[in-house]
Amino acid sequence: MDNEHMLLELDHISKIYGDLHAVDDLSLTVPQGQWLAIVGSSGSGKTTLMNMIGCMDTPSKGSVMLEGRRLEDLNARQLADVRKNMIGLVFQKFYLVPHLTAVENVMVAQYYHSVVDEKQAMEALERVGLKERAHHLPGQLSGGEQQRVCIARALINCPKLILADEPTGNLDERNEKIVLDLFRQLHEQGTTIIVVTHDALVASCA
Ligand code: ADP
Ligand code: MG
Repeated sequence: MDNEHMLLELDHISKIYGDLHAVDDLSLTVPQGQWLAIVGSSGSGKTTLMNMIGCMDTPSKGSVMLEGRRLEDLNARQLADVRKNMIGLVFQKFYLVPHLTAVENVMVAQYYHSVVDEKQAMEALERVGLKERAHHLPGQLSGGEQQRVCIARALINCPKLILADEPTGNLDERNEKIVLDLFRQLHEQGTTIIVVTHDALVASCA
């Protein structure tokens, strides 16, 4: 595939902390629509890599290109726009606001996109099968349900690229399957997904 269709290109990137090469000379191209799993043991640099792809950290060497745009050439505002318009983030920890309901947590994400629209937030929850749980607090939801709220939250900007860092790390098998089914649907709709995991089942889906 020619490079015009590459959503993401990593060109010899490294992240170096003193003597430690957290990421060491990695090159990778990811076409639009791919579902990619990056597998590695704890401490192998997965989160560091995701942070560089997600415009939250910069490489010590090499460059990251998203849709042909070199991130190092963008200013802070442009980087924030890329993050906001293009990327959806899902983490192992849920980072939900404990005193807000599920739908309010999704609306917090909308707030950062300057559109607070409860109907749309409800639709996002419906997509992840949580319409009936919309007015529950995170503490009243199971781990799997909380992660689905996080996925609804990540979907609010219709991201082209979902970056998921150990998204099922805190889930049991049943909930892991629900989350993987959601990723499968998003993939079928054309979303590019990069998932970091040390779980063989999660990796095998990609
Ligand atoms: P993983 O997500 O695969 O468990 P990380 O990307 O979190 O791994 O970390 C990779 C390595 O980089 C680890 O040895 C970690 O201690 C180190 N590291 C990560 N962030 C920093 C930092 N800000 N300063 C120094 N070392 C770091
Ligand atoms: Mg990590």
